[in-house]
Amino acid sequence: MKRKYSYDVAVVGGGAAGVGAAVGAAQTGARTVLVEKNPYFGGIATHGSVLTYCGFFTQADPTEQIVGGVGQQVLTHLSKLGMYDGPRRTARTGTVIVLLDPEVTKIALDRCVTEAKVEPLLHAQVIGAEVTNGKIEAIECVDHSGRFTIEASAFVDASGEANLTALSGGDFVFGDDKGHLQSATLMIRIGGVPPEANAHPITIQEAVVKAKKAGIPNLTKELGTIVRMPGSHDVLAILADEEVNGLESTSLTSAEISARKQAWAYLESFRRFLPGFENSYLVQTGPQIGIRETRHIRGEYTLSGDDVLQAKRQEDSVARGGWPVELHPVPGEPNEWHSIKDNSYYDIPLRSLKVQGVRNLWAAGRIISCDPIAFASVRVMGTAFATGHAAGVAASVELNNGEVSVKAVQSELRRQDAII
Ligand SMILES: Cc1cc2nc3c(=O)[nH]c(=O)nc-3n(C[C@H](O)[C@H](O)[C@H](O)COP(=O)(O)OP(=O)(O)OC[C@H]3O[C@@H](n4cnc5c(N)ncnc54)[C@H](O)[C@@H]3O)c2cc1C
Repeated sequence: MKRKYSYDVAVVGGGAAGVGAAVGAAQTGARTVLVEKNPYFGGIATHGSVLTYCGFFTQADPTEQIVGGVGQQVLTHLSKLGMYDGPRRTARTGTVIVLLDPEVTKIALDRCVTEAKVEPLLHAQVIGAEVTNGKIEAIECVDHSGRFTIEASAFVDASGEANLTALSGGDFVFGDDKGHLQSATLMIRIGGVPPEANAHPITIQEAVVKAKKAGIPNLTKELGTIVRMPGSHDVLAILADEEVNGLESTSLTSAEISARKQAWAYLESFRRFLPGFENSYLVQTGPQIGIRETRHIRGEYTLSGDDVLQAKRQEDSVARGGWPVELHPVPGEPNEWHSIKDNSYYDIPLRSLKVQGVRNLWAAGRIISCDPIAFASVRVMGTAFATGHAAGVAASVELNNGEVSVKAVQSELRRQDAII
């Protein structure tokens, strides 16, 4: 007999957005399941080695924290584990970040999810949706034992690829509407770099230029973000760009294989052309290539680049964003940065989280309704915790009241210490 489970709220995807949504929903008293295909939560942080949370703070000096609620609970867990003692600024751009470690992040998120009494479901992939009269009745999942069903009253798509939106017939766009995607990047973690070795992005750039001149093949980006990892002699290099359709396994396969060649080529370049890197070694790639963009939902309001850059305030705000616009339009080319007015923050309206075409479906994280410029800011993980928190609370409010009033969502978010 087919296995069947039943909850109030089902959240698909356990990255920053999904954790925010599931914990937020559970804290309203809703019986909540968090479905994740990987063996751990964290999404691109833990499964892509993107080891910095951006978006928790504005870029002003002094900086201001703009994500609280579930996001703050995660920071508190990171702090108890000795990982977090406040934000830092990056070497080249001066942007404000929170440094991570993959194992500490995994356990911090486990604690956050279980403390809130979310039902965690790892190793389970959502592959279908049962929809009646524009409402999702259940999602279909698969594990090694076969297919099973999860019924719920409300759903949150936090899959990063808007998978549940596509499966249930909700509105979405692919890339920037013309199908153009931000480039993908395989993270490269290199160990054996002594503290005195100069790992500034400009020094790294000079070495990559020399390596290209010397004929080392398979190198793309010269100038990118380089982060020294705390408590180790490791350096994280965000350089190995690929053009890839992150929805298709054929495209992903070529990109993974090509990016791994890049990782070894960068290592060889650093060993040959960077003083202090002679004995460095490859600690880890990925595990998965970092996909910045595939689908975005079409919501009731599309957050625009102008809203972001002008730091626009909105009546139905349920989250704040403060990361600058950071575009990665062409693989191998440097990122393009644009600051938010006064290094302040912009509001994210509830309407941008509501999937059009499916009544009981909310979206969170990098798939919320936004134009390409807004996307280049809103996609970061600190902001994803905030939009996730709001989507989870909205799903629960819908459950209790049938209709979602903005005021009810805002008041519950405030009760849960969200900053809105
Ligand atoms: C190379 C790169 C560098 C970046 N650098 C930074 C940075 O330094 N700081 C920062 O804050 N942000 C950074 N970002 C952006 C950020 O990592 C993402 O936009 C962010 O992870 C979005 O969070 P999310 O929860 O929406 O999605 P994700 O982190 O992608 O999480 C989605 C989760 O859903 C799961 N999932 C998907 N489909 C299914 C399904 N059908 N069934 C079950 N589970 C499913 C996935 O396994 C995944 O765990 C970077 C992105 C990339 C690619």
